[in-house]
Amino acid sequence: MKFCSNCGAAVTFRTPPGDSLPRHVCEQCGTIHYQNPKIVVGALPVWEDRVLLCRRAIEPRYGMWTLPAGFMENEETTAQAAARETLEEACARIEVGELYTLIDVPHISQVHMVYRARLLDLGFKPGEESLEVALFREEDIPWEQIAFRSISMSLRHFFDDRRNGTWTLHTASLAPPPAEWR
Ligand SMILES: [Zn+2]
Repeated sequence: MKFCSNCGAAVTFRTPPGDSLPRHVCEQCGTIHYQNPKIVVGALPVWEDRVLLCRRAIEPRYGMWTLPAGFMENEETTAQAAARETLEEACARIEVGELYTLIDVPHISQVHMVYRARLLDLGFKPGEESLEVALFREEDIPWEQIAFRSISMSLRHFFDDRRNGTWTLHTASLAPPPAEWR
């Protein structure tokens, strides 16, 4: 951040009195511009024994597969974000179920949340951000082509839990990947 979004003056990066971390501070109007983690919400839509995946038409990870997911908007709930992203990316209508994975990704200041969901009909098709949308059985999941670790982690838990018949919230914290994966 270079300029104050409140008054337009240049900001400085310093620790305000009484604070413990440096912030972008406007010396002109006194605004402290806090920056906090972003929340990414996704859905794991299920139809019988299959799961809905989208192939990304955008960077990062263009051409790779993912669950419908994206950044939460202001003034919506996390469950609404899951349903909205699923509609936007897969034109798919879902009934949002239980929160299923909650994954901290501290090195990029994100929190990823995935809800289990029931796909309501088969009228899905690629949205603006998807090349294709398809249902996959466990044995057909393109594991090497999954875009994000939090997504492959959610899918692996799903198939394990389904096999065991035990559903529970899974939490994790991801460390930075090896440099060659970035
Ligand atoms: Zn200012």
